[in-house]
Amino acid sequence: MRVLWFCIPAYGHTNPTIEVVRELTRRGHEVRYYSFEEFQERIEGAGAQFVACDSYLPPIDARTERRLRKVSSTEMSVQSFRTVANLDPLVSADVAAWRPDVVVSDSACFWGKLAAAKHGLPWVCSTTTFAFNEHSSKYMSHSAAELADILLGLPRLNAEIRKLRPLGYHVKSALDIVSNKPQDNTIVYTSRTFQPCAETFDEEHYRFVGPSVRDVAPKEKSGRSLVYASLGTVINDRPGFYLTLIDALRDADVDLLISCGKAFDPARLGELPGNVRVEQYVDQMEVLSRTSLFVTHCGMNSASEGMWMAVPELLFPLTSEQRAVARRVAEVGAGMALEERAAQDADELRKAVLDALADERLREGAARMREDLRSCAGPVGAADFIEQVAGLN
Ligand code: UDP
Repeated sequence: MRVLWFCIPAYGHTNPTIEVVRELTRRGHEVRYYSFEEFQERIEGAGAQFVACDSYLPPIDARTERRLRKVSSTEMSVQSFRTVANLDPLVSADVAAWRPDVVVSDSACFWGKLAAAKHGLPWVCSTTTFAFNEHSSKYMSHSAAELADILLGLPRLNAEIRKLRPLGYHVKSALDIVSNKPQDNTIVYTSRTFQPCAETFDEEHYRFVGPSVRDVAPKEKSGRSLVYASLGTVINDRPGFYLTLIDALRDADVDLLISCGKAFDPARLGELPGNVRVEQYVDQMEVLSRTSLFVTHCGMNSASEGMWMAVPELLFPLTSEQRAVARRVAEVGAGMALEERAAQDADELRKAVLDALADERLREGAARMREDLRSCAGPVGAADFIEQVAGLN
């Protein structure tokens, strides 16, 4: 079987696919993966052929960059539609020559989903966030600024959509392209327990395969507790938050490790107390194997990895999607919310961290979710599903 795979340039969307790709290539299937140079090594390491899309991204000016940094969905959609057009000659020629049996694309990767539709190929949606329909979307509480961005951006999006028609891409709306239809064959990297409104997604088309993670044996937690904090790999340039957290825990009987992201030089934080370490990137699964409390922005992957390792979470979401994940982690009892006010005050933040560390119910909730997530079908189930959609079984 030949699998044409597409993903956007984001760790959170790429990482969970890697083990599925590895399983497919282990079974002797060919996988050709359209991605970005940053991910080449891990994609090739999983046995796939890598195709670089870097030079097909539209050039962006300073104003656009500012909007993207603020996670403007309009701007991200405009850029995505332009990427569809830029990639069209390459992808169309590749489909004609290589003749894939099935397309798998990330739910936010317009060029993958639209390529499958244009060329009439079976399509599997790979969803690293929650499956998204009219029911589960109610879980996302948009801020006023986010809503204004979406509404005011509609004319720009419609103009981009019109430009795609002559190339053979027929898109109803930006919302239409990001929503899951009931009949869309979809892999979701979480469990039915964790998915909001799970009953609205049928068993035939939706496979909740659980997080696709590289497992690490938990280490014995003795001595001082480790508090690990990360705001993920996308919107992590928050020196104020890191400084407050360092201040909050400088005299506490715990160790603090912050992964601050590559957009940020840890030297900006000045001299650090002896119990604090700040890195730009860590092996998060290894760190979680010895962590007692995870202060997380609630990216879907980070939240899932914390639960996979039974680590209680202190939830500090920054976007509507992250707020939806945070709400669910709290509902299943594996974490507690960190209020914005507490995040800005060292005393309150210290209390929030120490309370969460001492909370037995959170540890139980996280342990329950560990069992739940580990009972899912995993990459093997995802690979079975892709074979099924391609007509192999
Ligand atoms: N990650 C990591 N080391 C770090 C920070 C992040 O390995 O120092 C990984 C993390 O394990 C997760 C991904 O990067 O798999 C981040 O994805 P997530 O959905 O949590 O957040 P995003 O970065 O997309 O906001």
